[in-house]
Amino acid sequence: MAGRYTAGVRMVSASRAFLVALLLLCACGRSTQERPSPADRPHPSILLITLDTTRVDSIGPEAKGVTTPSFNAVVASGRRFTQAYATAPQTLPSHTSMMTGTYPGGHGVHENARTLADRQPLLAEKLRDAGYRTAAFISGFPLVRRFGLARGFALYDDELPRGGNERGAKETTDRALAYLAENAQQPLFLWVHYFDPHAPYEPPEPFRSRYAHDPYRGEIAAMDEQLGRLVAAFRQRAGRDAAIVIAGDHGEGLGEHGEAQHGNLLYQGVMHVPFVIAGPGIAAGVVETPVSTRHVYDIVLACAGVGAEANLAAAPREVVLGEAMIPFLQYGWQPQVMAVEGSTKAIHAGTIEVYDVRKDPGEMHDLAATADLSRDMRKVLLEYPIPSLDAPPSSTTLTEEERKRLASLGYITADVQPAIRKDAPRPRDMAPLFETLDKASGLFVAGEYRQALPLLEHIVAKDPHNLMAVLRIAAAHSALGDNAQALAAFHQAETLAPNSPDVRHYLALHYAKTGDWERATPMLERIVAETPDRLPALEALAQSRERQKRFEEALQLRQRIVTLSPPGAPELVHLGMLAMETGRTDVAVQSLEQARALQGRAFQHDLELGVLYLSARRLEDAREALDRVPDTHPAHAMALFKRAQVSVLLGETDRAARIAAARAAADATTRELIARDRLFR
Ligand SMILES: [Zn+2]
Repeated sequence: MAGRYTAGVRMVSASRAFLVALLLLCACGRSTQERPSPADRPHPSILLITLDTTRVDSIGPEAKGVTTPSFNAVVASGRRFTQAYATAPQTLPSHTSMMTGTYPGGHGVHENARTLADRQPLLAEKLRDAGYRTAAFISGFPLVRRFGLARGFALYDDELPRGGNERGAKETTDRALAYLAENAQQPLFLWVHYFDPHAPYEPPEPFRSRYAHDPYRGEIAAMDEQLGRLVAAFRQRAGRDAAIVIAGDHGEGLGEHGEAQHGNLLYQGVMHVPFVIAGPGIAAGVVETPVSTRHVYDIVLACAGVGAEANLAAAPREVVLGEAMIPFLQYGWQPQVMAVEGSTKAIHAGTIEVYDVRKDPGEMHDLAATADLSRDMRKVLLEYPIPSLDAPPSSTTLTEEERKRLASLGYITADVQPAIRKDAPRPRDMAPLFETLDKASGLFVAGEYRQALPLLEHIVAKDPHNLMAVLRIAAAHSALGDNAQALAAFHQAETLAPNSPDVRHYLALHYAKTGDWERATPMLERIVAETPDRLPALEALAQSRERQKRFEEALQLRQRIVTLSPPGAPELVHLGMLAMETGRTDVAVQSLEQARALQGRAFQHDLELGVLYLSARRLEDAREALDRVPDTHPAHAMALFKRAQVSVLLGETDRAARIAAARAAADATTRELIARDRLFR
């Protein structure tokens, strides 16, 4: 069984025939005979718009219960793929497919909060190398720079409102329009991502009132208005040669098949997405053949005339694939793979379900008993690579803050590699638990342990092999100080997964928390040796080293922590103090300066900074820092003493008065220092 979950099985190659069709689409308008050589061919500007959480039936001319005139106008002038499928029902994996041209099985990002490997070539890099000016404006936390899609963009605007996880379509559009106004040079590759339809559904006015009965569609209507502004401005700037590509990243369950949002299942509500391309020479019309949105990559390159010749070979029709691995990665439930050919859709999740999505778009009638799947379809379903569970779970390199932000968007960040077993449940059969899982995770990450516990216990009652839930029960009891209950839950976790490094990790953190450093420290040492990127273990081991007064080692651990995750001011101050303790003046100055830059007037370590500057003979800096120490500082006497030293060294005219002031304010510590100081004689 291990082979099944670890082997890098061959991926199905993209349909060349489909690419040829695309190339012809984008090359129209110029006769192939007269086509200039690639070097002289003008590159058109390209606008890629991605619509988060947009169901195909909630946008476009046939949308129900909502009008989307801006999108419809692009559709009217362009080519619409009516059977387009996301590669995965979550933001980061789906966008990573569009930016790499590969399924998640190829690029390896199966869920949010993973980071794309550096070696994977990206669409924007290719276009940049071909001479494009590249810019991206993204609107949701799952796509911020650190998750890996910024490579190749000269500008990657992921600045979200302070403390927020998303930016509204109006603000994102305002920024993109300002950019367009300032950057007239061509060709341009502009990617704009809208996040509005993602939960919570809170459209701005007038859409809030207009769609009070259906705020999800209200968000779509509000987004559509901004999409209209963007397309108009882009067309005006980029000229008649410009191309526009619009694709959804996934839909929203809205209760279908028991799924309120997205991420857990592969049904049409979340996988069937809007997809349209428009530009010169692209004949308006409809393509009914199933297509994956990973072809955004090929379409954009073909429109740009970049590397397209390599794709000119005929090949068989493509079976469109998709996956939903989150329940597998988080709870060990069956991995889910989807394949679509014509109107036949099959879902493999332990068993195979088959639907005719044209006749039965609600997927109410499973045809598995009678359907005859093609050989291609069976093959791709069985050969699709299942993610390896060798790597540590996704959240080990996230900060608390980042975990909270993802949780507030309804995303569960896995702490734990699940216990894998053949008879694991199918995610669709566990749908009644989805809401409880989301709620429990939100409460747990927010530190609401008392409220999380009954939900977690309900989950374990229904899904006894759910290692993450069992460990969270243990961690919640630990945090609440219920030692015996915590240890009982840890014991249960060890029974479920005897060799799990995650169980050891949680247990070590529990021992550290209860002050049992004798047990905790050797466990932490082993965890850090095995997986050096686990932030909580690094943090706890650094604490242990500080307790042992092994400050050099503590400093090294804390330096590693700040390279793994962007530190806040408290972490920087802590690092600075540790560096002072070990005589690393350079590290101490740098850390405190960074903390001060983050904190501004709230920074409380000007005295330490002044002392450090003085010892580094940076006298002007020392004077400024010491002058900032307030009278109310508990060690103000020390500040006056150090300031007097600086004054003497700088030869200031008021140095005598400063020495007198230091003497007058002296306390037990500084009195002796002043008496002994040669500078004051
Ligand atoms: Zn999304």
